[in-house]
Amino acid sequence: MTATHFHPKGKMPSQYTIAAQQKQRALLPFEDKQDFEEAKHGFIAAPPYRKIMNDKGGVAWNMDNWDFLLQGQDYDSIHPSLQRQALLNMEYGLYEVTPGIYQVRGFDLANMTILRGKTGWILLDVLTVKETARAALKFVNDTLGYCPVVAVIISHTHGDHFGGIRGVVTDDDIAQGKIQILAPKGFMHEAISENLFAGNAMVRRKSYTYADLVPTNPFGHVDMAIGKAVASGDVGILPPTRSIEQPFEELEIDGVHMVFQNTPGSEAPVEMNTWFPDFKAFWAAENVAGTLHNILTLRGAPVRDAMLWSKYLNEAMYRFTDKAEVLFQAHNWPRWGKDRIQQVMRDQRDMYAHMNNQVLHLANQGVTINQIHNVYEPPKTLQQAWYARGYHGSYPHNSRAVIQRYLGFWDLNPATLIPLSPEDSAPLYVEMMGGAEKILPKARELYDAGQYHHAIEILNKLVYGEPTNQPAKDLLADCYEQLGYQSEGLALRNSFLSGAKELRDGVVPVHAAKPGSADFVRGTSTGMLLEYLAIQMDSRKAEGMQFKINLITPDNGEQFIVEMSNATLTTMAGYRAPDADLTLTINRSDLEVVMIGQAKLKDMLAQGKATMEGNPQVLMQIASTLVKFDPWFEVLPGTLARAELESKDELLNDDAPIETRP
Ligand SMILES: [Zn+2]
Repeated sequence: MTATHFHPKGKMPSQYTIAAQQKQRALLPFEDKQDFEEAKHGFIAAPPYRKIMNDKGGVAWNMDNWDFLLQGQDYDSIHPSLQRQALLNMEYGLYEVTPGIYQVRGFDLANMTILRGKTGWILLDVLTVKETARAALKFVNDTLGYCPVVAVIISHTHGDHFGGIRGVVTDDDIAQGKIQILAPKGFMHEAISENLFAGNAMVRRKSYTYADLVPTNPFGHVDMAIGKAVASGDVGILPPTRSIEQPFEELEIDGVHMVFQNTPGSEAPVEMNTWFPDFKAFWAAENVAGTLHNILTLRGAPVRDAMLWSKYLNEAMYRFTDKAEVLFQAHNWPRWGKDRIQQVMRDQRDMYAHMNNQVLHLANQGVTINQIHNVYEPPKTLQQAWYARGYHGSYPHNSRAVIQRYLGFWDLNPATLIPLSPEDSAPLYVEMMGGAEKILPKARELYDAGQYHHAIEILNKLVYGEPTNQPAKDLLADCYEQLGYQSEGLALRNSFLSGAKELRDGVVPVHAAKPGSADFVRGTSTGMLLEYLAIQMDSRKAEGMQFKINLITPDNGEQFIVEMSNATLTTMAGYRAPDADLTLTINRSDLEVVMIGQAKLKDMLAQGKATMEGNPQVLMQIASTLVKFDPWFEVLPGTLARAELESKDELLNDDAPIETRP
């Protein structure tokens, strides 16, 4: 292995890490090359460029970042199975799925899929940002001949599937009815709410678990399992012109016959698969991928239902895929031929059902959320199926998620019920272990023996006890790094490597894809905005405040009571309080202009577009409690250096209220 580490404190893979990787090379079926044939199948052309710029002058996308994967080297700093997946995701360009269906791959985290309708293109999912979506569509038109876009079908509520819509659709297209947008029932509400209320924490968690913090390098970011990475640029959202409401719904769009299968509560809160009988092609959205998916995404979201997910796949098998000639998805590559399709569908179905059932089987015998990841194993047959390996969702963290779903966080041990915060318990541990001078040599000994988990147990206590102890932080970083190298799961690898990076360098903010705030404000219901306001409020600043506000938005016929009592802001839709301290009347469309920042409320009042009756001081009282969230809060002790605080300002200026991630 010949590669240079990006970090001066970075370590090469240890002898134990190398041995672990070699063991995997011997255990796993590397002779099975079918995925490589499928990933290359139907290749039409790649563009002459590998970099896509964004409209702000930055780089939206650059396939050259991962060129090191194309060198034919085995890197001991990457789990061999993961390196294989990362190589498969290096496919770049336009591919034919079946005559009339095409995919652009390697332009963003997800694929853009293009169907030939009678008069134009029907797009299935439109990437994360305007810039990559626009480039993908242009490449399709340049290669296959120009057609207008007549419809966009959004499969689900994650940003890598809808965020690029502004690159393929204009407001005029919608206004003139030239382009239909279809999405599953509840799309706008779920797309926004999943990312709104805990959004700031999710930004931080996303940067950690997606390795935004570490360079692309054999020692850093190598892949995202369902694609290379998330593009950076303008993220938009447009409401569907038509919702798919029924569990199964048939439609003909531009001469193409489609049967939608709604799968709410699977990989996303709302999601849908589509069967194209004319093409004998089944679109599995993100419910099938070339990997085990997340039951819980570590960036944060409500835990998913593995059994429900499995049942949707089961029904799709019996209703559609037994007739299918191709199975294709929003991520990774398609599968052709009845046997192969049924094999993949069956194995993915069983993968989720097994995890659900066997984890609960063990939980019913007393295995807890703090043990299950060391106990649960998928069946041997699935361990040998590449697409059932844990690259995106990992078996260790997903098994914990199943227990979280059914039983919650507590292992029934009173010691872990309301434990001390780590910073409060650590000093006692450090003292009782004999201080840093005892802990560090022992940790070094464990590190040298390749016992990284054990070393972490004591070093983590020391770092919490002594947040300025840089030798302790460095050794802990070294342990995390080796575990990162050994992890097959990307979110595990990335989290270990991000932790190592922050222990070595402190918190260094990075840019991430930001949504176009105007689109998101327009898409957010007034009720949700008021609920988010209540989260932005620091209730400690609201002690003693007591008032009621009526908010009336005549243009959409809505009214709300917003009440402050007990330092808590609550919202009630559909009512008006007779004893309100203030009644604010403003059209929802004008409220949006204020929220987007294009006008101030006082301008709206001056222009007569808003009226207030009562005491306007209560608005000032609310304003005085609001806090602007900073996504670059400290995660590991002693990592938020003062110097870094200055450089964050520029990053925070353009932040939008909503962040959307896949
Ligand atoms: Zn996705």
